[in-house]
Amino acid sequence: MIPRLKPALTWQELWAAFTPPHSDEIERFEQAFASEMGQQHGIAFPYGRTGLMLLLEALDLRGKEVICPAYTCVVVPHAIVKSGNLPVFVDSQDYDFNMDLDQVLDAITDKTRAIIATSIFGYPVDLDKLDQIRKLFPNIYIIQDCAHSFAAEWNGRPVNQSANAAIFGLNISKLITSIFGGMVTTDDDELAARLRWFKGIRLRAPHWLKAWRRRLYFAAVYPAFWEPVYGLVNWLEHRRLLDQFVKYYDDSQIDMPSDFLEGLTRVEARVGIRQIKKYQTIVKHRRSLAEIYNQELGETPNLRLPPLITGATYSHYVPRVPYKQETVNFILRKGIQLGELIEYCIPSMRAYQNLLGSRRGYINASQMAKTTINLPLHVSATMAENIANHLKDAMNHFNYRNHNDPN
Ligand SMILES: *Cc1c(COP(=O)(O)O)cnc(C)c1O
Repeated sequence: MIPRLKPALTWQELWAAFTPPHSDEIERFEQAFASEMGQQHGIAFPYGRTGLMLLLEALDLRGKEVICPAYTCVVVPHAIVKSGNLPVFVDSQDYDFNMDLDQVLDAITDKTRAIIATSIFGYPVDLDKLDQIRKLFPNIYIIQDCAHSFAAEWNGRPVNQSANAAIFGLNISKLITSIFGGMVTTDDDELAARLRWFKGIRLRAPHWLKAWRRRLYFAAVYPAFWEPVYGLVNWLEHRRLLDQFVKYYDDSQIDMPSDFLEGLTRVEARVGIRQIKKYQTIVKHRRSLAEIYNQELGETPNLRLPPLITGATYSHYVPRVPYKQETVNFILRKGIQLGELIEYCIPSMRAYQNLLGSRRGYINASQMAKTTINLPLHVSATMAENIANHLKDAMNHFNYRNHNDPN
């Protein structure tokens, strides 16, 4: 079975994970990462959300409002809440899934101190509009959430560099991985020093057992995405037997993983260093598959294609379909697993329904949550054409059925 995602891992990463790490592996990782992203400082964390939480603390924000998308990974508002601040959600624009920056202007109050600008699915956030907001409100911090986009470019400008700081996620579902892990980058020397200081007092050194837990996890992940065994993985996942590894949120709770304040291991840093070298190749391949999908799927009735945008990194390729679950099941029967990310609108989740920040209607975010599927971006060009054909078949099947059976 073709998995919905597959980390670009070879024996090199496996070798890196199981050979003894250098004592300065974390610093090496931070420097290599910052350099690949074209930035001065990289500061490594056990999770991206830990980095965001400590970044808000280092910026000295408490009891303030932080604007973020209604349609993003739920760990983002979790980190805002855990830092002692209030997330204020803004709906997406229909076109590229990103937070509507015009509505951001309406959401700003005198308690707003930060905006999390997110390039969701790798679509670059409109930096020209963001610049205008920065000019109007120079005392509001801009944080780029680059977990999906990394160095995606808006008219040639990398999104991560247009901010006070940027955060990155590095778990196995991201563009590149350090097993788990996250990174914050910045060009501000003073902020970097403050964040390092906060990291020093807030994180405990990783226990040696954590390195072995990570190695074991990695050794299990490595074969799990191999197509001959992935059918079994899908079967286990479907029966919720992998929840411990794949379920990252509970609809009714604002929580963090139990080890979110235990530092990144050197084992993970070592894997991350190998992965950085592949970043450019990975993004290039994703761009070419997005083009193939758009070409093959153009003009398919009832299928809403995602935009092709120069500079996007395509962490996900996200068409919108009217019958999501049925489409996913149809394609699964052909031996291909589709993803369903992001399948929620955060202000509608039980944990956030009663929060003060959740006020407006979130029409686009709610629609996207219900209709978005992800096509695999790790496959060959030929397989992408195959997948596109199966999806066209599925759409024809449902269109025909619904045309002939009005119920
Ligand atoms: C993955 C992700 C993060 C960070 O996730 P962690 O699991 O905490 O590393 C942040 N924002 C978005 C949009 C993400 O997808």
